[in-house]
Amino acid sequence: MTEAKLDPQRMEKIVSLCKRRGFIFQGSEIYGGLNGVWDYGPLGVELKRNLKDYWWRVMVREREDVVGMDGAILTHRAVLKASGHEDTFSDPMVDCRTCKSRLRADQVPEKNGIKQCPNCGGKDLTEPRPFNLMFSTQIGASADPDAIGYLRPETAQSIFVQFKNVLDTSRKKLPFGIAQIGKAFRNEINPRNYIFRSREFEQMELEYFCRPEQGMKLLDYWLEERLRFYENIGLPRTRLHVLTVPDTERAFYSKGTYDIEYDFPFGRQELEGVAYRTDYDLTQHQQASGKPLDYFDEETKQRFTPHVVEPSAGVDRTVLALICEAFAEETVTDEKGKSETRIVMRFHPRMAPIKVGVFPLLKNQPALVEKARAVEALLRPRMNVFYDETGAIGRRYRRQDEAGTPFGITIDFETLGERDPALRETVTLRDRDSMKQERVKIDELPARLTTAIQ
Ligand code: ATP
Repeated sequence: MTEAKLDPQRMEKIVSLCKRRGFIFQGSEIYGGLNGVWDYGPLGVELKRNLKDYWWRVMVREREDVVGMDGAILTHRAVLKASGHEDTFSDPMVDCRTCKSRLRADQVPEKNGIKQCPNCGGKDLTEPRPFNLMFSTQIGASADPDAIGYLRPETAQSIFVQFKNVLDTSRKKLPFGIAQIGKAFRNEINPRNYIFRSREFEQMELEYFCRPEQGMKLLDYWLEERLRFYENIGLPRTRLHVLTVPDTERAFYSKGTYDIEYDFPFGRQELEGVAYRTDYDLTQHQQASGKPLDYFDEETKQRFTPHVVEPSAGVDRTVLALICEAFAEETVTDEKGKSETRIVMRFHPRMAPIKVGVFPLLKNQPALVEKARAVEALLRPRMNVFYDETGAIGRRYRRQDEAGTPFGITIDFETLGERDPALRETVTLRDRDSMKQERVKIDELPARLTTAIQ
């Protein structure tokens, strides 16, 4: 798993900042919490939304060869029977007979070649047995077994099930893709590493359909596209790693799979899988449903089942990578020579939850407040703005540094033209990372900031 440097202390600081600043809260917290379930607070939801919007923009809107869809979470049992999930979507589970904890067999640590319970150190473990990770539910009032349905364990299956409808209505030609962002549910035996492994999470998946002979090439094409995506949201290439999944660990139907991994403070772990799944899924659903899910090529007059390459990313894992990458603590010295620790979230401006803070220098000066409100109103239709007039200006900057806000605008007496008429209608624009300030004309702000956050 891990060649990355482990840094549990850093992780603790990140978790505490996320709670303190309203990125992420434990699900059902006031009732003791629900294990493996997380709620996103005001800053977290903005970050997550920016990530999903950017994915949708580059994977769907900017491409002629991809269309989107939004499938239901509740899924017919037959779908997940045909896909293989009902029979094989399981992890090996063992019980510790000493402390009764349930453990994922492949994650139980060994000491001197003997598996030991990580909770109590006990060596009396049961034999591994498969534990199905799907959440089943009863659909409707009837209690008969046919009323069983599942919360989907991945978004991909509804894309395969709707392949024909999307093909017929969008009239796309191969190669083309169907993309989806949405919730998925897995009853993980051991949810852990904060939001990294949860029981409810979101996926961003693309199923890119192609001719059989294009599969291997497209697998490499999509790997590069996805690496570029991560770089464009602020995850440096040096902390991203590509694992070629060995033949023995790949799904039997896959002809090639890459995992894109990131160096988290708890180790190197998977962000996304990019897999060439051949024609397995469409063939399975075709056989089980008896409905054709094939493709007719008008040029060659051939009819065949398309193959598919799937880049499948986790929203929450990427949010966590963005947070881990952004978190920085540094010592800064003020004009009076006093040193203090500055916590700053260095989000890429494209991902930052709040794009700009707007601050009147003093809140008891109506002319400053009025001007600051006017600047806020100018920018608000274009981006997420935070208006703050309380406390010393330095403290207001620090609060926004912790939220990861890339820009701060201060309206001062110069803005009102009280000292130098040449500076009338200008503000100071502060850069979060360098902390440098420059004077910028108010009417130049919208263009300047929208370019920076695009
Ligand atoms: P893992 O081996 O870590 O359990 P996986 O290989 O089973 O993951 P996939 O089935 O390939 O994962 O799912 C695609 C993506 O969905 C993963 O790369 C990950 O980003 C995300 N994902 C999967 N399971 C979880 C989970 N329990 N919590 C958060 N994200 C998840």
